[in-house]
Formats: sequence, structure tokens, C-alpha cells
Amino acid sequence: MAVIQDLTQITVSNGDKTMKDRSDKNIFNLAKSFGCNVFSDRVMKERLPKDTYKALRETIDNGLPLTLEVANVAANAMKDWAIEKGATHYTHLFQPLTGKTAEKHDSFISPTADGGIIMEFSGKQLIQGEPDASSFPSGGLRTTFEARGYTAWDCTSPAFLKEDAVGNVTLCIPTAFCSYTGEALDKKTPLLRSMEAVSKQAVRVLRALGNTASRRVTSTVGPEQEYFLIDKKYYDQRLDLITTGRTLFGAASPKGQELEDQYFGAIKDRISAFMKDLDTELWKMGVLAKTKHNEVAPAQYEMAPIYSTTNIAADHNQLVMETMQKVALRHDLVCLLYEKPFAGINGSGKHNNWSLATDDGANLLDPGKTPHDNEQFLLFLSALVIAVDRHADKLRAGAANPGNDLRLGANEAPPAIISIFMGEELTDILMDLAKGKKAHGKGQHFLHIGVDTLPKLPKDNTDRNRTSPFAFTGNKFEFRMVPSSASISGSNTVLNTIVAEALDEIATRLEKAKDINKEAGAIVKEAVNKHGRIIFNGNNYTDEWIKEAKKRGLPNIRSTVEALGAMATPEAVKLFEKYKVLTKGELHSRYEVYIEQYAKHINIEAQCAIRMAKTQYLPAVSRFTEQLARTVVGLKSAGVPPAVQKELLVRVQSLLDAASKKLVTLEKALKKAQGVGEATHKAEAYRDEVFTAQAELRTDIDALETVVPADLWPVPTYAEMLFKL
Ligand code: ADP
Ligand code: MG
Repeated sequence: MAVIQDLTQITVSNGDKTMKDRSDKNIFNLAKSFGCNVFSDRVMKERLPKDTYKALRETIDNGLPLTLEVANVAANAMKDWAIEKGATHYTHLFQPLTGKTAEKHDSFISPTADGGIIMEFSGKQLIQGEPDASSFPSGGLRTTFEARGYTAWDCTSPAFLKEDAVGNVTLCIPTAFCSYTGEALDKKTPLLRSMEAVSKQAVRVLRALGNTASRRVTSTVGPEQEYFLIDKKYYDQRLDLITTGRTLFGAASPKGQELEDQYFGAIKDRISAFMKDLDTELWKMGVLAKTKHNEVAPAQYEMAPIYSTTNIAADHNQLVMETMQKVALRHDLVCLLYEKPFAGINGSGKHNNWSLATDDGANLLDPGKTPHDNEQFLLFLSALVIAVDRHADKLRAGAANPGNDLRLGANEAPPAIISIFMGEELTDILMDLAKGKKAHGKGQHFLHIGVDTLPKLPKDNTDRNRTSPFAFTGNKFEFRMVPSSASISGSNTVLNTIVAEALDEIATRLEKAKDINKEAGAIVKEAVNKHGRIIFNGNNYTDEWIKEAKKRGLPNIRSTVEALGAMATPEAVKLFEKYKVLTKGELHSRYEVYIEQYAKHINIEAQCAIRMAKTQYLPAVSRFTEQLARTVVGLKSAGVPPAVQKELLVRVQSLLDAASKKLVTLEKALKKAQGVGEATHKAEAYRDEVFTAQAELRTDIDALETVVPADLWPVPTYAEMLFKL
């Protein structure tokens, strides 16, 4: 299937007779409204003079520089279109290192001499913004006295209109965000650079294989987004959810996910109403929302869009997360995107389906039908094997955040060890090739690479292993470690760059080779022999795999603090500088920002846990002990032995004692961590002492929840939050 370069080119034919006959309102409306808020290729064609349109397309498709003249005309057309649709403001959307989208709205108004206004939007305003950037994390790249940051129009991701519930319409211009001196301060810039890198190297490989038609190769992504929905009235009563995104306390509900009755279960009306609104909002903005279903955990759901180029997929995923949260509120629901909002049941992730596509419509990870396709496929597959084995630590770092620390390796999500699932059939072929044996193909034209045609790989076969962090699923890889709340840019920047490096090496060998087929065979063989240890088709959730992975020398990186370091090593600097994705300064600043974010996150959690314990849990439990004590005295004076009440009182009091002591320990640990100066040591102190002390405190509070009367318990329970929808 061809890559969708411009998502808004997709139309649902509303001229279709049967559709009209059925007068299917939903479909008809969808056909009319899909992409109606996108300044799409079609809108550009309609509204721009031919020359301007052509010049702009050259910039979008081939990266040619944009003249101010073209920008002026484009800006004006964009403004007119936006105003016709009710817009009063425009904003440069950018993605600072917070992982959220940032926006500052400016109205189009400009005063006239006679005291009125006209609506203005210049080319300069379109292509560049200067937000005061001093309050965004920069990791020391931009000193505050040079607080200017620049946003630069990314015309490869279409501008669109955002409507809010109160009727504001804003023209949104996707932009990259960098410092005065040109260093990336955002998530988009390195992603765009990495797309460029992988395209360049992939095209070299294609050229070496005799392909002269493809001019560009784009990495494509379809991110499946998992999330939870809970009733807002419960959310509002939980300081932990409000301030940290997850429950810091909460005894398990009597029922969890053990009946396996939620996954793909019938969608309740209230949720369905939310999903319908979500789809509608996303469709208007050109997001190809496709699949929706109940996920494994109670109150957990998933939305998957149709894949697009990585850049657009990343922008759209930010929009998806934002829209989910906004639309949920309209339904008195709260959407939780945190990786592990509830202990004891599955958390959320993002399955990052990734592939490479040529501009003429070929998927390079599709095995194809002809020997030539197969050879090409095996080379690209080898590039993945080489890249993922060599740089597993960087992939892990790209997917690291505090929420994922609670999820990875917890028997519901992939372990913290990265391996590739290939499926038995493909693995056998690769292993045979590595041994120099002929693979199973049976065709006439035997290639030196060892196969003529690959046996057809049934998609089902390749998609069964749900425990693998990096699974080949027939014509793409699915990276399943990406955190549900994070931007997908980080993971895809790493993926594109490490694959670019492997393709670079492959291209260099092929370009020098006298016999291309023979060299291709040698490359595949070497890749499997040297890097085949990364392939694992078994159950990733078992202890045996952890032992086996250790034997194979695969890294098992359990925490964010450990993981982040991989992006700042001299080896990482060399790699990312070579492909012009991130400089040493940019890598180090990112490390600093992320390690600080980790510490801040755990700091907030600890402060919240302390507050809840002191002002909610302990007072509630004290109330109960008071009641019990009174009952004991009362029963005694009435001549009835208060054995049961006394026993309960002793038990509750001892848990309360223990909780109080642990609270003191947590407070001490927090104070100590807050006093540590150096960023990495600080983060380690938070991980090793604060986080653990907080988890300890939780055990007693959760135990108390199971014995204190429900009407005295100060916050909503797991059962209420997860099942009362
Ligand atoms: P699953 O069995 O995991 O549901 P699907 O085939 O439905 O698999 O795909 C899941 C996601 O992968 C969707 O977002 C889909 O658009 C995306 N996807 C499919 N093909 C590609 C591709 N070539 N590149 C990137 N993503 C893709
Ligand atoms: Mg999938």
C-alpha cells in the first residue's frame, strides 16, 4: 500500500449511490467532515496560485528552501481559509522536552489608522515564531539571558484548525523548536533529522540493488494508543491521580482482570459515546482514527490510527492524547494516559508499528513475491537485526520514563530486555542462511543470497507472540515498549538513526561489491551470525528468558535512571553526530533534562503520598480506632467481653503504627534526596530511597483499606474507579 503523504487526500466517496440510498448519516457526515479542518493538499491546490503551490510542494516533498514570497502568499491563503472557518487566532505548535505540546495563541488582528482592525498573517509569522523559551526545559543549552527560542514551520505536517468546546477556533502550525544558536530544544527536530538520515541510507541500498526509481524512503508509523477512562467524580477525590497521574495507594479490587472479560468486550454506551466524539474530533483534524476496543484491564481501552509518515504520526499522536483528555471531560470522564495508573492490573503502552516505505509505494519490510524483492527484504531485515542488537540500550533509553519503570518486566508488558521476535519460519530461514545452507525456497532462479523466493509467511504466524518487545508482524516491526503517555518521537528518532547506520554499512558494502547477490548473501549471513542473539521467539515474560538473555549478553536495564545514560555515552554521541541527528551538546542536555524530570516526578509522588497519608489516611484510621476504643469500653461496662473489637483494634493500631513509622522514613528519604546536588546522584537517591520508602508506606495503607469500614475510607476505591462506569 502506498504511504499516505497527505492524509487529507483520503476521501470517503459520498457520491456512492448505495450509501445515499441507505442515507447512512454517519458515513455521509464522515465523508463531509473528514479532514475539514486541515489545510490539506487539496485546499492548497484550490487556494494557492499555481506557482506558489508548486514551489510549496517542492519544499514539502523535496526539502527545497522556502522563499519569503511563497511564504507570504501561503500565509495569506491559510489565514483566509482559517477565518472563513471561524478562526480568530493562530499558534505555532511545538513539542518541548516536557513531552507535551506547547502553544501560544496570537490573534490575527492588527489596528488600522481609523481605529478599526484588519486581519493579518504574514509569511514571516507563518515560518518563524519567537516564543519566550526560558520556561521550557533546555538542559543548559539555552541560558536564560538568551531566552529566545525559535519555532520554525514544519510544512511536511499540514496546518490545521483546533476547535474547543466553547467555540474557539485556532489555526495550528506544526513547528520545530530550537535555540538562538540552532540547537534542538524539542522532540520534532531530531525526528525530522533521523527521517532524513534513514531515507538517505535506504535509498543508497536501493540504488545499489539496481532501483533507480525511488527517490525517498520514509519511515512509517502506526501508534496504537492505550488509555484508561474513569468517572471524573472519583478522579476529583484522588489527589494522587490529580497530581501524579497514577494511584499511589489502593488495595486491589476483589475483581481484577482475571476473568479476561474486558478485552474486546462489548463497549458500554457511555464509553461508546466518548469514542464517537473522539473519532469525530480526530477525523476533523485529519487523524485517521481507525480501531477502537476494550483493552485487557478493566476501564482500559485502545485507539489505533491508520499509519502515516513518522513525522505526521508523531504530531497526530500528540493530538490524539490531547483530544482524548479533552473529550473525556465532556463526558464527565477522565482519561488516564499514565503507564501504570493502577497496581495489580495491566498498565498502558503504545505499540509503535514501524516500517520503511519508498515514495513510489513499496514497503521495504514486505517480503514480496519475487526473488529480487526477497533479497531486498532480507537485507532490510538484516539492517534491523544489526541495529537493534547493537543499540538495544538506546532503544531502551528512548522508551524510558518513570511510569514505564512500573510496567516493563511486570509480566504484562515486555521485559526491560530488548529482543526481536521473528517467528519460527523466518528465523529458520535466517539461521539456514547463516549456516550457508539453502533456504526452503523452491523457485527456478537461485540467487546467491540463498533463497529464490521465500515461503509465504502467514501473517498470523508472525503476530502471535504478544510478549516480545520488538516483533516482526508480517510487513512491519512493532516496538511495544513505548510509554503510553510519552511522545513517540524519542523512540522513532532512535529507531531511524540506528537503522540508518546499519543501512549505511550495507550500502557501502554493496556499492563496492563486484557480485551484488553474493555480497547480499554475505551481509545477511554475517548479520545473523554476529547479531542473531537478539532474536528470541519464546515467552519473554519468563524467568528462564531473563537468565538466557544474560547468557547471550543482552542488556537488562530495569530503571529509567540506568537507561538514560545510554544516550550520552561517547559511542552514542558518535552515532548521533555522524547521522546529524543530535549533537553532543543536544544529547547531554537531553540527558540532563530527562534525569531531572525523573527526580522531579518521584519528588511529586512522594510529596503527594505524604500529604495523603497525613491528611486523609491516618486521620481516617484514627477515627476508626477511636470508635473501636469507645466500643471496647462500652461493652466492658455493659459486662460483655469485647474480644472481637479488641482484636481488631490491636490489629488496626499496629498497622497504623507501622504506617506512621514508614511515613517518617519516607519524609527523611525525601529530605535527603532533595539535598543531593548532582543530577544523576539525585535521581538515584529518588529511585533507591524515596521511591522504595513510598512503596513501603503503601503496603500498610492498602492493608488498612481492607479492614477499615468503607464509609470511613477517605478516597474512592479501586473497585469504584475501575468498575463503576
Ligand atoms: P494488529 O494485529 O496489531 O492490530 P494491524 O495490522 O491492524 O495489526 O496494525 C496495527 C497498526 O499498524 C495500525 O496502526 C496500522 O496502520 C499499522 N501499520 C500497518 N502497516 C504499517 C506499516 N507498513 N508501517 C507502519 N505501520 C503500519
Ligand atoms: Mg498490533
